[in-house]
Amino acid sequence: MLDIKITKTTTPKEKPADESKLGFGKKFTDHMFLMDYSADQGWHDPRIVPYAPFNLDPACVIFHYAQELFEGMKAYRTADNQIQLFRPECNAKRMQDSSDRMCVPQVPVEDFIQAVKTLVEVDKDWVPHSEGTSLYIRPFVFATDVGMGVHASLNYTFCIICAPSGAYYAEGIDPVRIYVEDEFIRAAPGLTGFTKCGGNYAASIKAGDLAAKKGFAQVLWLDGVEKKYVEEVGAMNIFFMIDQKVYTAACVGTVLPGVTRRSCIELLRDWGYEVIEGKLAIEDIMKAGHEGRLNEVFGTGTAAVVSPVKELSWKDDQVFIGDGKIGPVTQKLYDTLTGIQWGRLPDSKGWVVPVCKG
Ligand SMILES: *Cc1c(COP(=O)(O)O)cnc(C)c1O
Repeated sequence: MLDIKITKTTTPKEKPADESKLGFGKKFTDHMFLMDYSADQGWHDPRIVPYAPFNLDPACVIFHYAQELFEGMKAYRTADNQIQLFRPECNAKRMQDSSDRMCVPQVPVEDFIQAVKTLVEVDKDWVPHSEGTSLYIRPFVFATDVGMGVHASLNYTFCIICAPSGAYYAEGIDPVRIYVEDEFIRAAPGLTGFTKCGGNYAASIKAGDLAAKKGFAQVLWLDGVEKKYVEEVGAMNIFFMIDQKVYTAACVGTVLPGVTRRSCIELLRDWGYEVIEGKLAIEDIMKAGHEGRLNEVFGTGTAAVVSPVKELSWKDDQVFIGDGKIGPVTQKLYDTLTGIQWGRLPDSKGWVVPVCKG
C-alpha cells in the first residue's frame, strides 16, 4: 500500500457549468497525483497536490529524447451515484509493458490502481453527471535526468491528471470515413507500436493531418514492412466483419493492445461470433467490400468505445460499408460496453471496480 499524502487546494476552480460543452481533455480537475523515482530510493513520496505546472530544467531528458509513456482510462458516474472504473488492472499492466520497452521503472499494478482510485475520490465532484460524460484519467511517466546523454534516466516522475469529458456521441453515433495510409507507417516489428509512448503519436500527426485535409476522420495504418495488412486506426484498434466472421490484427508488437479491443473480443465470443486475431490484407477487405461481404467495420478505444466506419479509401479505391449507418453488431457492442461502464447493465464479467459514492 502506498502512503499517499494529500494536500488539498485552497483555491478550487469553478466546475464547468454546461456539461454539453465539456469536449475532451481541455479542462482539468483541482488535483494531480505525483510520485518520484530515483535509482537509490525507487518509487517514493506518493502525493496528491493541487494541479499545477511542472518546474523542469530545459536539459531534462524528456524534452530531448522523449523517454515517456502514458495511459488513458475513465471514471464513470452511475445513475445511483456510484463512481467506478473499467478494468483498471489492464491499464496498470499495459503501463508496465510500455515501461519495460522504454527502460522506465515499472509502477506496481496495485500502486497504480490505488493512485488512480485515490485521486478520483479526491476529485469526485469533477466526475460529470450528464448521460455519456465521464472523467478522463491520464496517467503518465517521464524521465527527469538533466543532461544530453542518450541512456536510461536515473530519475522519473509518475503523474496522473484528470479531465471531465463530454459525451463522445452528443449528436448521435456518426460513422466515419477512413483513409488507408500507404506512404507513412506507424510501427514496425521491434519498434514501439505496442506501447503508449508519446513518440508514436508525434510520428503519426503528419499522416493524420494530411488525411484530415482530404476530409477523413482517421488514418488506417498498414503493417510497416509490406504495407499490406491492416493494423489499427489513430488511437483505436479496428475490427472488420466479413461474412459474419470478425477479424482484427493480432497484438504481436506493432499493435496497441486496447482494453476496449480485448473487451469486444470477449463479448463477441460470448455471443457466438468467430473472432480471428491475425493478418488481414487490405486488398481482401476492399474485395469483400465490393462483393457486398463486408458487413461492418468499427474502431474501438476508451474515448469513443466503438466508432463505426462507413467508408474506406485505399489508393484509388473506395468501399462503402452497409448503408452508412452503424451496424447491428457494432451497436450491440456499444450498448453492452457503455451499459456496463455506466452501470445500466449488470457487470457479469467482473470488469467494474467501484471507487466511492459520488
Ligand atoms: C489507446 C490506444 C488504443 C485503444 O486502447 P484502449 O485501451 O481501448 O483505449 C488503440 N490504439 C492506439 C494506438 C492507442 O493509443
